Amino acid sequence: MTAPALDAVVAGAGFAGLYAIHRLRAMGLRVQAFEAGGDVGGTWYWNRYPGARCDVESLDYSYSFSEELQQEWEWTEKYAGQPEILRYLRHVAERFGLRGAVQFGTSVTAARFDPGRSSWQLETDRGDRVEARFFILAGGCLSRPQLAALPGLQAFAGRVLHTGRWPHEPVDFGGRRVAVIGTGSSGIQLIPQVARQAAQLTVFQRTPNYSLPAFNRPLDRDYVRWFKRHYAQRREKARYAPGGSSGYTAPDRSALDDTPREREAVYERGWARGSTALLRSYKDILTSQAANDTLAQFVRAKIRGKVRDPAVAALLAPTDHGIGTKRVCLDTGYFEAYDAPHVRLVNLREEPLVEVTPGALRTRAREVAVDDLVFATGYDAISGAALAIDLAVEGGPALADHWRDGARACLGLMAAGFPNLFLVTGPGSPSVLANMVTGIEQHVDWIAGCIAYLRERGAGRIEATAAAEQDWMAHVQRLAAATLLPRANSWFTGANIPGKPRVFLPYVGGHGAYRMACADVAFRGYEGFTIS
Ligand code: FAD
Ligand code: NAP
Repeated sequence: MTAPALDAVVAGAGFAGLYAIHRLRAMGLRVQAFEAGGDVGGTWYWNRYPGARCDVESLDYSYSFSEELQQEWEWTEKYAGQPEILRYLRHVAERFGLRGAVQFGTSVTAARFDPGRSSWQLETDRGDRVEARFFILAGGCLSRPQLAALPGLQAFAGRVLHTGRWPHEPVDFGGRRVAVIGTGSSGIQLIPQVARQAAQLTVFQRTPNYSLPAFNRPLDRDYVRWFKRHYAQRREKARYAPGGSSGYTAPDRSALDDTPREREAVYERGWARGSTALLRSYKDILTSQAANDTLAQFVRAKIRGKVRDPAVAALLAPTDHGIGTKRVCLDTGYFEAYDAPHVRLVNLREEPLVEVTPGALRTRAREVAVDDLVFATGYDAISGAALAIDLAVEGGPALADHWRDGARACLGLMAAGFPNLFLVTGPGSPSVLANMVTGIEQHVDWIAGCIAYLRERGAGRIEATAAAEQDWMAHVQRLAAATLLPRANSWFTGANIPGKPRVFLPYVGGHGAYRMACADVAFRGYEGFTIS
């Protein structure tokens, strides 16, 4: 029997796909990647909306695999903007010669595992048919944009935009009446930028979110020099920190150990840092409702202090979920934007959207004339990219069936019954709950280590056992249930997608603990996996 022409196919050329290509090629593997977008970058290729930037500090939100790269690349801001991150990823692709391995503008649409040949047969929307021993799905956790299903949308005469599919040419909102639907991280970054240009901006909010000031700023050169001198230690710290970032200090106190005045001082200091690290002011903010309430009240008071109109301020202050149970946002002038006379907030809880007409949005209570309609309505997160592929084992299960009651995978890396399919930041891994670049490097390294292990033994096939997958996902659920996170209607649970099974998808135990669990499995000869 002839061996497959390719060792690995990688779907996606964002942070994950690029590193997978680099790592596997360095092992001498024949790798082909397909990327739906027109270039490398993933999230940072697609999300070109004004205001898009990371909220993990740039010096942490970057690859650690090359000392030369991390020393030579100069980040200019505490939180890099989308153009800079995209430039960085293009630089990485050039520097390591990765672009040639990627066929752009091409989606993997179908994947069949052939048990007889122990290989994946893959098809693309451009008619390619390739065979590879391993299939590495690096399609992203936040790459399948979701629009709100609104009657009449097709007939809307103006521009329709989604933050995750932003046009490449600048979008001029000057003199336009703009509607933004959605107030998650994307909306909160976008809204103040649109407010600067538009003649009229109407924000349609279903749920208010906690957002902290980013206090973004140019990076101080001395700080960068110091950071780079200690890069090795900083990266090592990040690798074992719960959030995958190097600025972490483990809190040892409960929020309830301090007096209200002491707590206030702690929160004020955390607030001034301009970071989601405020959530780590105390050890129990995400596990005790009473502790959580103290921080939520603090942040709500800050929000009320930023908005002039008390009625608008009340609408913007979240009360239906605990702080940190949905992704906390970082913003630059978000709440302040509502003080401008041309910016209006519509509360969809009181007046749901009814329909779109060619020139307006209609709620139950009013009609708002609109030229541009912007969806900041998020993603079919974590499982969406995998489920968009018609993926199955020949004569066996389809991934869609396996995930009918919720996406699952052993260590978030391999779904039981799907040999030689590796998921990067899949369901059951910390993924979106930690610095994703740290998570991606750890996943790709684990996958590379696993493939090397198989090669050394002359083995061509690995798959997670059903028991190991079940145990892992039960562990993931137990950890989540010990926190406040599953209580919120967040995209972590699939609650944002009508009909999606409600399962808490990410691993809340922290990146460091997770890394050790993965290393332990490998050390024990891939315990919980069958190798043949
Ligand atoms: P992606 O960057 O999503 O790349 C996946 C790529 O795969 C996409 O380009 C997609 O087109 C392609 N693809 C998908 N399916 C297929 C297919 N079938 N065939 C071919 N190609 C396919 N994370 C953080 O840790 N910190 C942050 O500050 C942060 N900020 C973010 C800001 C925004 C606006 C968004 C949307 C996300 C942010 N994230 C952040 C999460 C971010 O997605 C990750 O940090 C990281 O970029 C993910 O890289 P990835 O390669 O796994 O996935
Ligand atoms: P999101 O967090 O899912 O927010 C989507 C928003 O749209 C929510 O306010 C949601 O309301 C609303 N919405 C969804 N469907 C709707 C409908 N049918 N009608 C009305 N409103 C609707 O999506 P996102 O803002 O794109 O962010 C996704 C994730 O990407 C973030 O959580 C984060 O991980 C990442 N991200 C990070 C940054 C950053 O700062 N680094 C920036 C952008 C994105 P409900 O809350 O009621 O569902």
